[in-house]
Amino acid sequence: MAATGAGQKLAAGLYFISTPIGAARDITLRAIDILGTADVIAAEDTRSLRHLMDIHGIPVGDRPFLSYHDHNGERMRPRILAALEEGKSVAYASEAGTPLVADPGYQLGASAIAAGHVVTAAPGPSAALAALTVSGLPSDRFLFAGFAPNSGGQRRRWLEDLRGIAATLILYESPKRINGLLGDMESVFGGTRRVAVCRELTKKFEEITRGTVAELVTAFEGRTVKGEIVVIVDRARETGAGEAEIEAALREALTCQSVKDAAASVAELTGAPKREVYQLALKLAGGN
Ligand code: SAM
Repeated sequence: MAATGAGQKLAAGLYFISTPIGAARDITLRAIDILGTADVIAAEDTRSLRHLMDIHGIPVGDRPFLSYHDHNGERMRPRILAALEEGKSVAYASEAGTPLVADPGYQLGASAIAAGHVVTAAPGPSAALAALTVSGLPSDRFLFAGFAPNSGGQRRRWLEDLRGIAATLILYESPKRINGLLGDMESVFGGTRRVAVCRELTKKFEEITRGTVAELVTAFEGRTVKGEIVVIVDRARETGAGEAEIEAALREALTCQSVKDAAASVAELTGAPKREVYQLALKLAGGN
């Protein structure tokens, strides 16, 4: 059913097409075939898909070319479903990478499935998997957490939910907020977790920065970062320091340091999350 080839008439159904995340030649041959023969083309961003099709010499001809994104989904879905009902093949691409991965497509796919249509994928690039591949972190089990919330308080609560998960974490982040995210990771996860910041994957200025959270906080400090970013974070591991050890180190540090400095130095020494060490330091300093 899902088999497609150059020049073959495409069977009716919805085809989710993955498109490049930087290098235009990362499109697959099957995606080119489908885009070349689908009865209807739909895209999150029609301009970027048209541009990609131009690069690969795929004519649109007189085929309908629809826009489908988060803001017009409700209005456009019936139109796409009607085309499927008429036995047409519909190719859908998001702006870059794999549709549905922090991109539109979920409701479209679910509605098409509910209406009994064939839904298939032309798999290909996704920033999440490209970043995992180059991160140097375990790939046996991972959790895609999407975009981190923008505000500090919400972001820290969001990180707290992720803290104990026994899987490599995959996060998307804006370059404007990478410093804030790394800082919050240091306070919630501790400084010793391994992390990889993967920027501009497959593009000219691709850059992968690997290290502990504390090292990356320092590496990105004061830097104006541009481009697109995926952050990969190692899973929770034993810090090696138990609560008793942390408490003993804090008691010692508090004899000659402020609560803030004692917490910072003990967190660095033990790799325990800064926030937790700070709370404990406050408690000890208050004599509770
Ligand atoms: N559906 C896409 C996918 O499969 O990766 C993701 C779309 S999401 C709206 C866009 C985010 O993906 C960016 O903000 C960035 O976090 C990440 N991203 C996309 N392209 C990237 C690239 N070339 N390098 C690093 N991150 C990228």
